[in-house]
Amino acid sequence: MNKFTFVRVDSPDAAIAELDEHYSPKFIAGGTNLLDLMKENVECPDHLIDINHLAFNKIEDSPGGGLRLGALVTNADTAWNQEVEKRYPLLSQAILAGASPQLRNMATNGGNLMQRTRCYYFYDTATPCNKREPGSGCSAIGGYNRILGILGTSEQCIATHPSDMCVALAALGATVNVTGKNGNRIIPFADFHRLPGDRPDLDNTLDAGDIVTSIDLPNEDFTSYYKYLKIRDRASYAFALVSVAAALKMEDGKIKEARLALGGVAHKPWRSNEAEVLLAGNTANKDSFEKAADVILQGAKGYGDNTFKIELAKRAIVRALTEAAGLEEQA
Ligand SMILES: Cc1cc2nc3c(=O)[nH]c(=O)nc-3n(C[C@H](O)[C@H](O)[C@H](O)COP(=O)(O)OP(=O)(O)OC[C@H]3O[C@@H](n4cnc5c(N)ncnc54)[C@H](O)[C@@H]3O)c2cc1C
Ligand code: SF4
Repeated sequence: MNKFTFVRVDSPDAAIAELDEHYSPKFIAGGTNLLDLMKENVECPDHLIDINHLAFNKIEDSPGGGLRLGALVTNADTAWNQEVEKRYPLLSQAILAGASPQLRNMATNGGNLMQRTRCYYFYDTATPCNKREPGSGCSAIGGYNRILGILGTSEQCIATHPSDMCVALAALGATVNVTGKNGNRIIPFADFHRLPGDRPDLDNTLDAGDIVTSIDLPNEDFTSYYKYLKIRDRASYAFALVSVAAALKMEDGKIKEARLALGGVAHKPWRSNEAEVLLAGNTANKDSFEKAADVILQGAKGYGDNTFKIELAKRAIVRALTEAAGLEEQA
């Protein structure tokens, strides 16, 4: 690990001011991702700015009637928060499917959004990786790529975003509040993470030095019909091969409104408006769920070891929707 200096700040202005003083500064929150990246020399900040004392540590009602999740609230405190459990149970389910209790006690909401891919080659500095070192090549294309992407990939990178929480946030239509040198911004969740294109080194649309302050959940009722389904190699402590966040509004067996997002398949949580439109107005049954799954996966591309994910994702979508609609008991 390289040498670095460390400072603890108590205001966003102080955090932003620290950025200009150093060559490669980084914010640190729970440290559960950043410290691993530093130990592997994937990231080598010369200065760590501890933001844990900023006042983004509350869960409170948002001005729009929804809920605001502070960026520094831990994943554990968010998942077990009574309002989150009552009003956004899909989100609680998704967070609790991730990592381990110990990690969730440290991991923050802002850090969860910002966590980096789990592509093996990204962590292995002895191998080419366009995300870590732009222009060096992609070892995963033609290499071992079991856990990598099948949707929205590029010739430069097929990495996936590893978060569970973000898949539910995408389905629920959250927005991300950000502050930085250029003032405050609100970013719709769909625009927060990027596809790799020819800039796989960029995970998201933040400007350098932007701080995520909170996440707003809209005032929508997806409390009766929902399911976060995570398929993984181990029952716990493993990232998703494929995950599905499904939320429905139902009336007399018919779907009034649907929300559907996938994790583990793309560089960003993959929400499909097309599949949601197709589901709305239809009877909740296997036929309509299979059609929705086909629509989402129609542009999918496998790279060898991960080609099984196309069929796996289709089946996971059908199962998640079946359980969300209450046609089968939740596993
Ligand atoms: C063994 C293991 C298993 C895991 N399994 C899962 C899993 O199954 N599902 C899952 O979703 N996650 C999983 N995780 C990831 C974990 O959820 C993330 O590491 C965690 O959410 C990151 O939050 P943090 O506060 O620790 O971030 P940090 O490590 O402190 O920071 C991560 C990055 O975010 C930046 N950052 C942090 N906060 C802010 C902010 N407010 N504004 C701007 N930038 C910020 C930092 O600069 C850094 O670049 C796992 C992690 C480990 C180590
Ligand atoms: S898939 Fe992306 S992160 Fe993985 S080796 Fe290729 S460029 Fe790097």
